[in-house]
Amino acid sequence: MKKEDCIFCKIAAGEIPSKTIYEDGQFRVILDLGPATKGHALILPKGHAANLYELPDETAAEAMKLAKKMALRLRDRLHCDGLNLVQNNGETAGQTVSHFHIHLIPRYEGDGQKINWVPSQPSQDELEAVRKEIAD
Ligand code: 5GP
Ligand code: ZN
Repeated sequence: MKKEDCIFCKIAAGEIPSKTIYEDGQFRVILDLGPATKGHALILPKGHAANLYELPDETAAEAMKLAKKMALRLRDRLHCDGLNLVQNNGETAGQTVSHFHIHLIPRYEGDGQKINWVPSQPSQDELEAVRKEIAD
């Protein structure tokens, strides 16, 4: 997708209105339009990167620092009981908007949301085979 057609570029630049909860020179943090829970927010870099693979290292580092800052704010202001960071890359992983973003999802006891996976039970040999594929 071309940057000019990217909705999150337009939102991050303030060309499309959003419920902004934080902004600086590099990022805008907005409320998700379809929140999983009260306070579900999205960290958007102002520079376009489709996903984590394309994100500049510097922006990645700053995004995680900002995630921590916003997590503390959500905890302190909304008194949530927990918080998930979610970051999807690729359609298979659930990415629907091709502009890198981090979800901040406050969690409340009994909120009924399901963000976790179903664990499998590989053997030690299977785990070792995977380790060899990935390790240096
Ligand atoms: P993804 O599935 O790509 O990780 O997440 C995209 C998120 O963006 C979804 O949670 C969706 O609700 C949210 N979203 C999509 N379009 C808009 C929009 O125009 N404004 C806002 N605030 N959120 C959006
Ligand atoms: Zn974009």
